[in-house]
Amino acid sequence: MSHVLHRNLRATQPVIVRGEGNFLIDDKGKRYLDACGGAAVSSLGHDNAAVRAAVAAQMDKLAFAHTGLFTNAPAEALADHLIARAPEGTGEGRVMYLGSGSEAMEAALKLARQYHLERGDTARAKIIARKPSYHGNTLGALAVGGHAGRRKPFAPMLMEVEHIDAAYAYRLQREGESAADFARRLADQLEARIVELGPETVAAFVAEPVVGASLGSQPAPEGYFKHVREICDRHGVLLIADEVMCGMGRTGSLFALEQEGICADITTMAKGLGAGYQPIAAVMARQSVIEAIMAGSGNLWNGHTYMSHAVATAGALAVLQEVESRDLLSAVRSRGQQLETALRDRFGQHAHVGDIRGRGLFWSIELVAGRDSKTPFDVSRNLAGKIQRAAMEAGMICYPSQGCADGTAGDHVLLAPAFTSPPEEIEMTVEMLGTAVDGVIAGG
Ligand code: PMP
Repeated sequence: MSHVLHRNLRATQPVIVRGEGNFLIDDKGKRYLDACGGAAVSSLGHDNAAVRAAVAAQMDKLAFAHTGLFTNAPAEALADHLIARAPEGTGEGRVMYLGSGSEAMEAALKLARQYHLERGDTARAKIIARKPSYHGNTLGALAVGGHAGRRKPFAPMLMEVEHIDAAYAYRLQREGESAADFARRLADQLEARIVELGPETVAAFVAEPVVGASLGSQPAPEGYFKHVREICDRHGVLLIADEVMCGMGRTGSLFALEQEGICADITTMAKGLGAGYQPIAAVMARQSVIEAIMAGSGNLWNGHTYMSHAVATAGALAVLQEVESRDLLSAVRSRGQQLETALRDRFGQHAHVGDIRGRGLFWSIELVAGRDSKTPFDVSRNLAGKIQRAAMEAGMICYPSQGCADGTAGDHVLLAPAFTSPPEEIEMTVEMLGTAVDGVIAGG
């Protein structure tokens, strides 16, 4: 019996022993094409020599020195790298390191609160986020997330957070409504909520530039984030961009928000930062946030033992250097076009695929019982989970997400192939996904 507390206590999970390119290999020799990088994590595949060497070299020099007292070269170099490439408007920002996306979200929320306190805006504590959304599993991040099912068991323990609609075009854009009008209407929800709550009580608005786990891979309509930026500025509300999943190149630019032409006040990143080689996350604050702290207490009111870990930051720096030196952002854009075309060819007319959406190498399909009615399948059927299992059986890994029990979002399946994927792996992925979808739906 396993003594590891896995997510599914009843299942026996395959034991992975090796990674080879974009394949994982288990102890029986079975090979799995990793078409979702776990959860949009493994952007460089599983055996990147440069990252392995950087991690080993740093381990030989220094692993840990407490960051309350010391800094170290890789932590500084990684922060320099990120700030130099951050969206325009970041200025002389700073980066703090954490161990997971959830921790990064917690730290971002606290940083927003600290910013307002440093400026004497003591009433600003409320957070507005969107639904559906996912921002992590710890209590603060879970409270910010807008997914009824995930929140339900812990509801009595969650802080109050306000939710507005995510820019979910497939279900919320009205018939005949232009993308520009849709963007305006949804952004106006934010302004209305801020005004209703009293701007002087609102600390931050949290959103993923391209929604991941809760909606597959949903970019915002053009102009939406520009409106959001203006509204936040008008009311003194900070904008927190959760780029844990969509950042670090996944959508074709290092920061997803670059493509929206605006800059967040606080940005979180995680998965593609360590690309699976190191468990690392980061929070980046723009110059104005740092200046408020400098003018106030001069101290960060947040700390964890393993912040700025030298091996973790050395690994992440090597990941980002690989992305840049091999021009992998271009690869994400061109391979992404190939993936979109293949998905549209295979599922464009499929009776049970209502929507195909994404950006870069971040694409998903939403499953529906009826294409015209857009009726989701009953979530109790766990279709997305079954598709994942069928694909895995056949040797391909995709990322499922259950829809919302109230019917506001359907089940979907997400693909997030490595930036290093050759064209034939993209073709193979879509073919195997098609077989899994058809097999599961036919099987009821
Ligand atoms: N934010 C987003 C957008 C995520 O997708 C996730 C993880 N799926 C998190 C936060 C939480 O990250 P972690 O699982 O590393 O705690």
